[in-house]
Amino acid sequence: MTEVRVVTFDCAQTLVHVDWNPPRLAVDSAEAIGMPVDRLEAASQYHRLLTAGWDDFRRANLSRDSAVTDAHWRQLTEDWVTALGLGREWVEPLVTEAEERLFGPGSEVFRVYDDVGPTLDALRERGYRLGVVSNWDLSLHRVLAMFGLTEYFDTVTASLEEGVEKPDREIFDLTLRRLRAEPAETLHVGDNPVDDLQGARAAGLKALLIDRNQPQTGRLVLADLRDLLERLPGVA
Ligand SMILES: [Mg+2]
Repeated sequence: MTEVRVVTFDCAQTLVHVDWNPPRLAVDSAEAIGMPVDRLEAASQYHRLLTAGWDDFRRANLSRDSAVTDAHWRQLTEDWVTALGLGREWVEPLVTEAEERLFGPGSEVFRVYDDVGPTLDALRERGYRLGVVSNWDLSLHRVLAMFGLTEYFDTVTASLEEGVEKPDREIFDLTLRRLRAEPAETLHVGDNPVDDLQGARAAGLKALLIDRNQPQTGRLVLADLRDLLERLPGVA
Protein backbone atom coordinates (compact mmCIF):
# COMPACT_ATOMS: atom_id res chain seq x y z
CA MET A 1 0.00 0.00 0.00
CA THR A 2 1.24 3.45 -0.87
CA GLU A 3 2.15 5.55 2.13
CA VAL A 4 0.43 8.91 2.57
CA ARG A 5 2.85 11.80 2.04
CA VAL A 6 0.41 14.55 1.14
CA VAL A 7 -2.69 15.78 3.00
CA THR A 8 -5.28 18.12 1.52
CA PHE A 9 -7.99 19.86 3.53
CA ASP A 10 -11.37 21.34 2.83
CA CYS A 11 -11.69 24.78 4.47
CA ALA A 12 -15.26 25.65 5.54
CA GLN A 13 -16.28 23.67 8.66
CA THR A 14 -12.99 21.73 8.39
CA LEU A 15 -10.26 24.32 9.10
CA VAL A 16 -12.43 27.39 9.62
CA HIS A 17 -15.94 27.65 11.05
CA VAL A 18 -17.99 29.80 8.68
CA ASP A 19 -21.26 31.53 9.48
CA TRP A 20 -21.79 33.57 6.32
CA ASN A 21 -25.26 34.97 5.76
CA PRO A 22 -24.77 37.88 3.32
CA PRO A 23 -28.17 39.60 3.75
CA ARG A 24 -27.85 39.44 7.54
CA LEU A 25 -24.30 40.76 7.41
CA ALA A 26 -25.42 43.63 5.18
CA VAL A 27 -28.37 44.56 7.41
CA ASP A 28 -26.33 44.29 10.64
CA SER A 29 -23.64 46.49 9.09
CA ALA A 30 -26.27 49.02 7.98
CA GLU A 31 -27.77 49.22 11.46
CA ALA A 32 -24.33 49.54 13.06
CA ILE A 33 -23.56 52.68 11.01
CA GLY A 34 -26.99 54.18 11.65
CA MET A 35 -28.54 53.62 8.22
CA PRO A 36 -32.32 53.82 8.44
CA VAL A 37 -33.42 50.38 7.17
CA ASP A 38 -36.36 48.08 7.61
CA ARG A 39 -34.64 44.75 8.36
CA LEU A 40 -36.96 42.50 6.41
CA GLU A 41 -37.25 44.71 3.35
CA ALA A 42 -33.50 45.42 3.35
CA ALA A 43 -32.58 41.73 3.69
CA SER A 44 -34.91 40.72 0.92
CA GLN A 45 -33.56 43.41 -1.44
CA TYR A 46 -30.02 42.31 -0.66
CA HIS A 47 -30.85 38.69 -1.33
CA ARG A 48 -32.42 39.62 -4.67
CA LEU A 49 -29.34 41.59 -5.80
CA LEU A 50 -26.93 38.91 -4.56
CA THR A 51 -28.74 36.21 -6.53
CA ALA A 52 -29.11 38.34 -9.65
CA GLY A 53 -25.39 39.13 -9.61
CA TRP A 54 -24.05 35.67 -8.79
CA ASP A 55 -22.97 34.82 -12.36
CA ASP A 56 -21.09 38.13 -12.49
CA PHE A 57 -19.46 37.27 -9.18
CA ARG A 58 -18.34 33.91 -10.54
CA ARG A 59 -16.81 35.63 -13.56
CA ALA A 60 -15.11 38.22 -11.33
CA ASN A 61 -13.40 35.41 -9.41
CA LEU A 62 -11.89 33.94 -12.57
CA SER A 63 -9.80 37.13 -12.83
CA ARG A 64 -7.97 36.05 -9.61
CA ASP A 65 -7.78 39.76 -8.86
CA SER A 66 -9.24 40.91 -5.55
CA ALA A 67 -9.64 44.44 -6.95
CA VAL A 68 -12.18 42.95 -9.38
CA THR A 69 -14.13 41.05 -6.71
CA ASP A 70 -13.97 44.05 -4.34
CA ALA A 71 -15.47 46.17 -7.13
CA HIS A 72 -18.28 43.62 -7.47
CA TRP A 73 -19.18 43.90 -3.76
CA ARG A 74 -18.94 47.69 -3.88
CA GLN A 75 -21.31 47.81 -6.85
CA LEU A 76 -23.73 45.43 -5.15
CA THR A 77 -23.64 47.63 -2.05
CA GLU A 78 -24.31 50.72 -4.12
CA ASP A 79 -27.21 49.02 -5.94
CA TRP A 80 -28.63 47.97 -2.57
CA VAL A 81 -28.41 51.46 -1.05
CA THR A 82 -30.09 52.86 -4.17
CA ALA A 83 -32.81 50.18 -4.12
CA LEU A 84 -33.57 51.19 -0.51
CA GLY A 85 -33.98 54.79 -1.64
CA LEU A 86 -30.92 56.01 0.27
CA GLY A 87 -27.99 58.19 -0.79
CA ARG A 88 -24.60 57.00 -2.02
CA GLU A 89 -22.87 58.56 0.99
CA TRP A 90 -23.73 55.34 2.84
CA VAL A 91 -21.74 53.10 0.49
CA GLU A 92 -18.20 53.64 1.81
CA PRO A 93 -19.07 53.39 5.53
CA LEU A 94 -21.11 50.29 4.75
CA VAL A 95 -18.29 48.58 2.87
CA THR A 96 -15.85 49.43 5.66
CA GLU A 97 -18.19 48.12 8.37
CA ALA A 98 -18.91 44.87 6.51
CA GLU A 99 -15.19 44.28 5.81
CA GLU A 100 -14.44 44.69 9.51
CA ARG A 101 -17.16 42.21 10.45
CA LEU A 102 -15.86 39.73 7.87
CA PHE A 103 -12.09 40.05 8.03
CA GLY A 104 -11.30 42.16 11.09
CA PRO A 105 -9.99 40.85 14.40
CA GLY A 106 -12.91 39.21 16.16
CA SER A 107 -14.60 38.38 12.82
CA GLU A 108 -18.21 37.34 13.34
CA VAL A 109 -18.15 35.22 10.18
CA PHE A 110 -14.91 33.20 10.41
CA ARG A 111 -13.32 31.36 13.34
CA VAL A 112 -10.47 28.88 13.17
CA TYR A 113 -10.98 25.61 15.06
CA ASP A 114 -8.66 24.96 18.03
CA ASP A 115 -7.46 21.60 16.72
CA VAL A 116 -6.17 23.06 13.42
CA GLY A 117 -2.89 24.74 14.46
CA PRO A 118 -1.55 21.77 16.47
CA THR A 119 -2.48 19.33 13.69
CA LEU A 120 -0.86 21.37 10.92
CA ASP A 121 2.27 21.95 13.05
CA ALA A 122 2.62 18.22 13.64
CA LEU A 123 2.03 17.34 9.98
CA ARG A 124 4.62 19.87 8.82
CA GLU A 125 7.11 18.57 11.41
CA ARG A 126 6.65 15.08 10.06
CA GLY A 127 7.31 16.30 6.52
CA TYR A 128 3.86 15.98 4.94
CA ARG A 129 3.10 18.26 2.00
CA LEU A 130 -0.17 20.09 2.61
CA GLY A 131 -2.84 21.68 0.45
CA VAL A 132 -6.31 23.20 0.60
CA VAL A 133 -9.11 22.23 -1.83
CA SER A 134 -12.13 24.37 -1.11
CA ASN A 135 -15.41 25.41 -2.69
CA TRP A 136 -14.78 29.07 -1.91
CA ASP A 137 -14.22 32.39 -3.65
CA LEU A 138 -11.01 34.40 -4.00
CA SER A 139 -11.30 35.48 -0.36
CA LEU A 140 -10.11 32.02 0.71
CA HIS A 141 -6.51 33.28 0.61
CA ARG A 142 -7.38 36.25 2.78
CA VAL A 143 -9.19 34.12 5.35
CA LEU A 144 -6.31 31.63 5.61
CA ALA A 145 -3.91 34.57 6.04
CA MET A 146 -6.16 36.07 8.75
CA PHE A 147 -5.56 33.01 10.89
CA GLY A 148 -1.87 32.62 10.06
CA LEU A 149 -2.52 29.42 8.11
CA THR A 150 -1.09 30.41 4.70
CA GLU A 151 2.46 29.26 5.38
CA TYR A 152 1.40 25.69 6.14
CA PHE A 153 0.17 25.01 2.64
CA ASP A 154 2.13 24.27 -0.52
CA THR A 155 -0.94 25.08 -2.59
CA VAL A 156 -4.41 26.52 -2.02
CA THR A 157 -7.19 25.84 -4.54
CA ALA A 158 -10.37 27.94 -4.42
CA SER A 159 -13.11 26.60 -6.70
CA LEU A 160 -14.37 29.97 -7.88
CA GLU A 161 -10.91 30.94 -9.11
CA GLU A 162 -10.70 27.75 -11.14
CA GLY A 163 -14.25 27.58 -12.45
CA VAL A 164 -14.58 24.01 -11.19
CA GLU A 165 -15.80 22.79 -7.82
CA LYS A 166 -15.93 19.69 -5.64
CA PRO A 167 -17.01 16.98 -6.08
CA ASP A 168 -15.72 17.30 -9.68
CA ARG A 169 -12.47 15.36 -9.80
CA GLU A 170 -10.80 18.08 -11.89
CA ILE A 171 -10.36 20.26 -8.80
CA PHE A 172 -8.53 17.43 -7.03
CA ASP A 173 -6.51 16.62 -10.17
CA LEU A 174 -5.29 20.18 -10.60
CA THR A 175 -4.40 20.49 -6.92
CA LEU A 176 -2.36 17.29 -7.07
CA ARG A 177 -0.55 18.53 -10.19
CA ARG A 178 0.46 21.65 -8.26
CA LEU A 179 1.61 19.50 -5.33
CA ARG A 180 3.39 17.09 -7.71
CA ALA A 181 1.55 14.36 -5.85
CA GLU A 182 -0.01 11.07 -6.87
CA PRO A 183 -3.61 10.42 -5.79
CA ALA A 184 -2.63 7.20 -4.01
CA GLU A 185 -0.18 9.04 -1.70
CA THR A 186 -2.72 11.78 -0.87
CA LEU A 187 -5.33 11.92 1.89
CA HIS A 188 -8.14 14.47 1.74
CA VAL A 189 -9.99 15.58 4.88
CA GLY A 190 -13.29 17.46 4.85
CA ASP A 191 -16.74 17.68 6.41
CA ASN A 192 -18.94 17.00 3.37
CA PRO A 193 -19.67 13.36 2.49
CA VAL A 194 -20.31 14.15 -1.18
CA ASP A 195 -17.78 16.90 -1.93
CA ASP A 196 -14.99 15.65 0.28
CA LEU A 197 -15.37 11.90 0.77
CA GLN A 198 -16.95 10.74 -2.50
CA GLY A 199 -15.31 13.47 -4.59
CA ALA A 200 -11.79 12.73 -3.33
CA ARG A 201 -12.23 9.00 -3.64
CA ALA A 202 -13.53 9.30 -7.18
CA ALA A 203 -10.28 11.13 -7.98
CA GLY A 204 -8.28 8.25 -6.47
CA LEU A 205 -7.37 9.92 -3.17
CA LYS A 206 -7.84 8.46 0.27
CA ALA A 207 -10.38 10.42 2.30
CA LEU A 208 -11.63 11.01 5.83
CA LEU A 209 -14.49 13.10 7.15
CA ILE A 210 -14.28 15.49 10.08
CA ASP A 211 -17.36 15.86 12.30
CA ARG A 212 -16.61 17.56 15.59
CA ASN A 213 -20.11 16.72 16.83
CA GLN A 214 -19.21 13.04 16.88
CA PRO A 215 -18.53 11.64 20.34
CA GLN A 216 -15.46 9.78 19.09
CA THR A 217 -13.33 9.19 16.05
CA GLY A 218 -14.37 6.25 13.89
CA ARG A 219 -13.09 4.46 10.81
CA LEU A 220 -14.06 7.16 8.33
CA VAL A 221 -14.92 10.06 10.61
CA LEU A 222 -12.58 12.11 12.78
CA ALA A 223 -14.14 13.71 15.86
CA ASP A 224 -11.06 15.91 16.34
CA LEU A 225 -8.57 16.90 13.65
CA ARG A 226 -5.65 15.90 15.92
CA ASP A 227 -6.84 12.30 15.71
CA LEU A 228 -5.61 12.40 12.12
CA LEU A 229 -2.03 12.16 13.44
CA GLU A 230 -2.37 8.65 14.78
CA ARG A 231 -3.96 7.55 11.48
CA LEU A 232 -0.91 8.51 9.43
CA PRO A 233 0.75 6.87 7.68
CA GLY A 234 -1.41 3.98 6.68
CA VAL A 235 -4.92 5.28 6.09
CA ALA A 236 -6.87 2.54 4.33
MG1 LIG B 1 -16.62 22.18 4.18
